[in-house]
Amino acid sequence: MTIAATSTPTAPAAAAAPITMLNPDFPFPYDDFLAHPAGIGSVPEAMHGTEVAVIGAGLSGLVAAYELMKMGLKPVIYESSRIGGRLRGGTQPGQSGPVADLGGMRFPRSGRSFFHYADKVGIETEPFPNPLTRAAGSTVIELGGQAHYAETAADLPQFFGDVAAAWDDCLEERAHFTAMQEAIRNRELSTIKRLWNELVPKFDDVSFSGYLATSRAFSALPFEYREAFGQVGFGTGGWDTNFPDSFLEILRVVYVDADAEQHRIIGGAQLLPQRLWNHTPENLDHWPAGTSLASLHGGHPRGAVAAVARVKNDGGAPGDIAVTDRWGRTTEYPAVIATCQSWLLSARIDVDESLFSHKLWTAIERSHYMQSSKTFVVVDRPFWKDIDPETGRQVMSTTLTDRLTRGTYLLDNGPDQPALICLSYTWNDDALKWLPLDANERVRLMLHSLKQIYPTVDIASHIVGDPITVSWEDDPNFMGAFSDNLPGHYRYQERLYTHFMQEGHLPEHRGIFLAGDDVSWTGGWADGAVTTGLNAVWGVMNQLGGSSPAENPGPGDRFEELKPMRLP
Ligand SMILES: Cc1cc2nc3c(=O)[nH]c(=O)nc-3n(C[C@H](O)[C@H](O)[C@H](O)COP(=O)(O)OP(=O)(O)OC[C@H]3O[C@@H](n4cnc5c(N)ncnc54)[C@H](O)[C@@H]3O)c2cc1C
Repeated sequence: MTIAATSTPTAPAAAAAPITMLNPDFPFPYDDFLAHPAGIGSVPEAMHGTEVAVIGAGLSGLVAAYELMKMGLKPVIYESSRIGGRLRGGTQPGQSGPVADLGGMRFPRSGRSFFHYADKVGIETEPFPNPLTRAAGSTVIELGGQAHYAETAADLPQFFGDVAAAWDDCLEERAHFTAMQEAIRNRELSTIKRLWNELVPKFDDVSFSGYLATSRAFSALPFEYREAFGQVGFGTGGWDTNFPDSFLEILRVVYVDADAEQHRIIGGAQLLPQRLWNHTPENLDHWPAGTSLASLHGGHPRGAVAAVARVKNDGGAPGDIAVTDRWGRTTEYPAVIATCQSWLLSARIDVDESLFSHKLWTAIERSHYMQSSKTFVVVDRPFWKDIDPETGRQVMSTTLTDRLTRGTYLLDNGPDQPALICLSYTWNDDALKWLPLDANERVRLMLHSLKQIYPTVDIASHIVGDPITVSWEDDPNFMGAFSDNLPGHYRYQERLYTHFMQEGHLPEHRGIFLAGDDVSWTGGWADGAVTTGLNAVWGVMNQLGGSSPAENPGPGDRFEELKPMRLP
């Protein structure tokens, strides 16, 4: 948590119900749905064993496949790269650790659906060393060549406190912040919808920077305050790379505390998808005890999907959906869940145009993805904890700067154990600067930047082996890090998100269900990958004649009551 988040207004009853990722566009309580003893649903016995294709073995595809398996269906997962998708761990060649989280790495405790599965498979977590948190120990904020050392936000100069206060003020001024958080805590779904539906038309066309510049608080302050806010940000690091976003995107994050109390997975985030793949659930319908996704697939998912096409029945009526893998093997399915980044449906997979309406294709093509790059080095030990005899402080801290590196995070694995430094974590333009450079050149420049902040620390002397780096936009299996709506994108997101409700669709548009990070309202947060996977499960179950128990209605059952508003 950084300065602004620490002083973000909190609802009066802080000890009462927690804030959860109850998304204001569709505030369906997925956590309660998942925890309900009656289960999330079933299909008629005659459907048991029916194959359903799942494109992508990221978190969304695995959650969907896991729940379909529990219902007695037979998920058939296709994966073009590695199990885990954007929960990918990087290690040095031939080494099993330490594991660098190249995609998702800090998971807000408010993401209860994410933690439902993490807890189920025995994942252990600890607080992520975000700036100004106890887990970080200390933080250095360096802007305009001036470094500030702090253990808590209170150690920073008053200027930063004023920036934080301005942010708090502008959230209250026009975005009902306290009222919304209170409604989320108390699960007052109709209040959440009422507050949010008033804001959607107001702010869909307003960028984050536009909102700040026109706010009462920031417009009364010199530009430097907004600039510092952009560079230091709130939650987890600099925020100016999000300044072009629709302000609605920012509200979706801060209302639900996605930027607060974040944990990292001990052993690496990839443990969650790997364990889901191997997990043997209790209370399986149809399948014998001990069945897992891995056992249903003989240990390996099928390879990359190359084509998806509609099969025509005799007489030309739309029939099943044929999925062809990269080796030309075609299988027909009554239902398909597509969880890969949706750009891939036109750019990398030969998808029959008739499977989606033109309006949906437009939404797919107009999605905007953030770029993101991370570079890690393994060091011999957490040397940054050494105390500088002159200052009495740690020699190096979690660092936020306006230099090329932007955010540097220090990841300890225990005393004298090899540790990780995420030398640089960047988004958008800052990430593009690294794109053409190889790993060594990246590290050279990063060390140069950090040398300006820590002139006496010889980071290079602690580095062991090769750096680990990623640029998500450079990987053809992703084409970008995660979706991120720009002003005017609400309508597209609404089409993508609501696609699982297919009753009003033309017959030729039914049977394929979009899910995953970029379909969710909170791109870049794994909780949304989970919940959109559950929407798709509901859609498939419904199509195959199944239902959720009456005492535990599913997202589709409560859709009319909670559905995202539709803009004209
Ligand atoms: C840099 C970065 C940082 C992030 N940080 C956080 C964070 O701190 N906290 C958080 O909660 N979330 C974070 N996220 C988001 C989180 O990682 C995602 O929400 C989640 O992992 C997405 O899961 P998914 O299943 O929707 O998609 P993916 O993980 O992308 O899964 C889709 C799968 O489809 C596969 N695929 C692609 N094409 C084909 C094909 N033709 N055939 C078959 N398979 C195919 C891909 O290889 C991939 O494995 C971050 C993501 C990134 C990239």
